[in-house]
Amino acid sequence: MTDPDPFPNAALPSRRQLLGAVAAAALVPSSAKARNRTVSRDRWDVIVVGAGVFGAWAAWNLQRRGKRVLLADAWGVGHNRSSSGGETRLIRTEYAGNALYTRWAWESLAEWHALGRRHEARLFHKTGALYLYPQDSAQIDRSIAMQRALGIPIDRLAAPHMAKRWPQIDFSGIAVGVMQPTMGALMARNSVQALVGDFVKAGGSFRQFAIDPPRGSLSVLDTVTGTGGEALRAEQFVFACGPWLPKLFPDVVGSRIVPTRQDVFFFAPAPGDVRFDGAHLPAWVDVSSKDLHYGFPDIEARGFKIALDAHGPRFDPDGSDRRITDQALADVRAYLAHRFPDLARRPLADSRVCQYENTDNGHLLIDRHPAWANAWIVGGGSGHGFKHGPAVGRYVADLALGTGAAVPDLMLAAHRPHG
Ligand SMILES: Cc1cc2nc3c(=O)[nH]c(=O)nc-3n(C[C@H](O)[C@H](O)[C@H](O)COP(=O)(O)OP(=O)(O)OC[C@H]3O[C@@H](n4cnc5c(N)ncnc54)[C@H](O)[C@@H]3O)c2cc1C
Repeated sequence: MTDPDPFPNAALPSRRQLLGAVAAAALVPSSAKARNRTVSRDRWDVIVVGAGVFGAWAAWNLQRRGKRVLLADAWGVGHNRSSSGGETRLIRTEYAGNALYTRWAWESLAEWHALGRRHEARLFHKTGALYLYPQDSAQIDRSIAMQRALGIPIDRLAAPHMAKRWPQIDFSGIAVGVMQPTMGALMARNSVQALVGDFVKAGGSFRQFAIDPPRGSLSVLDTVTGTGGEALRAEQFVFACGPWLPKLFPDVVGSRIVPTRQDVFFFAPAPGDVRFDGAHLPAWVDVSSKDLHYGFPDIEARGFKIALDAHGPRFDPDGSDRRITDQALADVRAYLAHRFPDLARRPLADSRVCQYENTDNGHLLIDRHPAWANAWIVGGGSGHGFKHGPAVGRYVADLALGTGAAVPDLMLAAHRPHG
């Protein structure tokens, strides 16, 4: 179920107005530009640190429940090195029968649609999402049954049917496909920026501000310090710092979250070849591939996107090199030759290196900080978190306001440090 539109009677703001609001909010209050350590007279209800997808949706939900919220990010909303940067993210409800993530993804889709409706920009592309399995299994049956019980449109497809429908894919080694026609691609950076624009327009505050690792010996956290030595005070704190969480909380998070390098490639189809655009190809995940390749059709003329879900080497979100390697490019071309042969020799149009922030078991990590009753750690997206942003924001607001129960799988105790 979605909440009502926050601006039912308001004229829709343009994207330029919204982004302008974010930029303007970054400039105030001017007292914040302290050079020496100062304590702001403001005391916020909640300070949310990190304006990636989780922090933005948490701030939005808290603000809509009447809280005075400051959202702070060291480098800006959806910046290029954040895990929520870049273009496309898959939203799908095929989740190997996991009840929580199936439900969260489905509920979130409605809120992503609502966000899109408030904006001129297209924030979701309904390409459909196609899972390719090497063999049939009882787990696929369970997952389909769970989705049907929630009312999610879903089709089980045999390989010969798929070969006719998408001749641009080579289906060798694939026995069954699961097609989710209402799913597709969320536009990551644009969506988070649009949401923060809504948050600011509705009265929330955003500042570009870097928070130092918090300190305090009492059982509640009162103040965080950051840019220019300025101290900010609040009743509650949400730390949604993605791959930076281990640096902020080395003792508590430490290697419970390990950022890994993930290479992303965009290939240019042949001139005039529309077979790889969003009208002719769904987003897809190839479960038969050892590295779990996945990709998107050519959306907004960026090129056919392909990436590996297998975790790369450990990665520092601040300092690691973000250039792809010749070997990674050769490997992905070898995969294309097998599954998308007409793209194997096409030019590389673009590439990105970003990071997952992995927990040991793939569950998100959302819990109260063990030392401070009023501080929440939110992260561990583990390569699948983006789609759940709306549900996570609601869940975090419930936890912080004492209106919801914690899910044990997401708590610190459920996550072992990586070895
Ligand atoms: C290549 C790639 C592909 C992915 N594909 C999918 C997909 O298809 N579907 C899906 O659902 N998910 C996907 N994901 C996962 C998803 O994008 C992430 O789980 C999600 O974006 C994590 O969001 P976050 O808010 O936790 O972190 P981030 O977006 O990294 O946000 C954290 C923010 O905290 C800020 N910050 C950090 N430290 C401080 C500080 N001290 N002070 C102030 N600010 C600070 C940072 O600047 C940053 O903006 C993918 C991720 C990657 C990298």
